[in-house]
Amino acid sequence: MSKVNGMRYIADHDYHIHSTVSLCCHDDSQTPEAILSYARRNGFTSVCLTNHFWDEKVKSEADWCDEHDFSHVSSVLPLPQAEGTRFLFGAETDMDFNNIVGVSRERMELFDFIIVSTTHLHLDGNTVKTKIQTPEEAAYHWVDKLENLLKKELPWHKIGIAHLTTGHILKGRTHEVLPLISDKILRDLFSECANKGVGIELNVKTIGMSSEQRDIFMRPYFIAKECGCKFYFGSDSHKASALIGTKENFDHVTDTLSLNETDKFRLK
Ligand SMILES: [Zn+2]
Ligand SMILES: [Zn+2]
Repeated sequence: MSKVNGMRYIADHDYHIHSTVSLCCHDDSQTPEAILSYARRNGFTSVCLTNHFWDEKVKSEADWCDEHDFSHVSSVLPLPQAEGTRFLFGAETDMDFNNIVGVSRERMELFDFIIVSTTHLHLDGNTVKTKIQTPEEAAYHWVDKLENLLKKELPWHKIGIAHLTTGHILKGRTHEVLPLISDKILRDLFSECANKGVGIELNVKTIGMSSEQRDIFMRPYFIAKECGCKFYFGSDSHKASALIGTKENFDHVTDTLSLNETDKFRLK
């Protein structure tokens, strides 16, 4: 066994952050400069800006507002840089209700990293046709979207799958949804994720979690780890105050999952 195999995962990055360019960011101080200084304060060697993006070159029947087009997300360029910290240009995109992914092939080239969210299930009219009412429906879509994403031909080495245990799955009831997805289904899906080499996002607050919550919210990640998936951290911060305590939580998640450096998803 080489030395790196036993080396504890170093939380040295944050690959999911929004700035004022995302319409859901209402904090004027969440600028690229502020994000870079957050990264430096926490000793991160890389940080990635991932504002919401639906490529206007990708046609969709959904009711997307066109304010998250390329001119909008690229208005942050050039990103400020600092010695020892790479500031990467990324985006967070969605899959519409026809399972179309919101980035065209040519635009894919322009990003260092693309996060696809399969769990923005609250966006009826966009990601799902009609409003999801029950945990059963939400569980069906959770699985169906991930399955469909994995059938695509994408540059997997620079793709991440966002917040798989987010509250957006079903408002206030995500804890009822996740237990409906069996270990077997999770194993099949995460084995495929591991084959593709896609990054699995860790965006879950383990500090202060009860053991019951831990069983529900961490089970998918434990199974993903068993299947050989690679993980990256993402705070999904939309405001400066959300960046406080982030690194501490990343370290706590690392310990909860006993992650090693070999479990890390690395962007080139
Ligand atoms: Zn998201
Ligand atoms: Zn996000």
